[in-house]
Amino acid sequence: MKDCLFCKIVAGDVPARKVLEDTRLVAFHDVNPQAPVHVLIVPRKHVASLDDAADGDRELLGHVLIAARDLARELGVGSGYRLVVNCGADAGQSVFHIHFHLLGGRGMGWPPG
Ligand code: 5GP
Ligand code: ZN
Repeated sequence: MKDCLFCKIVAGDVPARKVLEDTRLVAFHDVNPQAPVHVLIVPRKHVASLDDAADGDRELLGHVLIAARDLARELGVGSGYRLVVNCGADAGQSVFHIHFHLLGGRGMGWPPG
């Protein structure tokens, strides 16, 4: 998708500190980390938000969850981490290409802000 920041990162047109790439997703460090580990897991396919996901994206989204599990282990936070999807501007979504925040390495409060 033209003019989508995460499509550009997926394509390699905008640099990012990537930690994982496979056929369906790319994961990279957030530029403004909110925890010692803060990685964004981004499907290669442009889907604007979770609300825009189709039933046919079920397997892709499951793949993201298992990748998050593996990444958390690899990044040393497998015993405690949080996976966050901000869906829509009201929930704090600022980049409209679906992504999952993997946060770990510090204590987490509840409820989130
Ligand atoms: P959202 O607010 O949409 O849930 O999350 C977007 C995230 O993307 C934010 O945590 C923000 O710091 C991150 N971000 C925005 N621009 C860039 C960028 O150019 N590179 C990287 N690595 N992260 C970015
Ligand atoms: Zn995109």
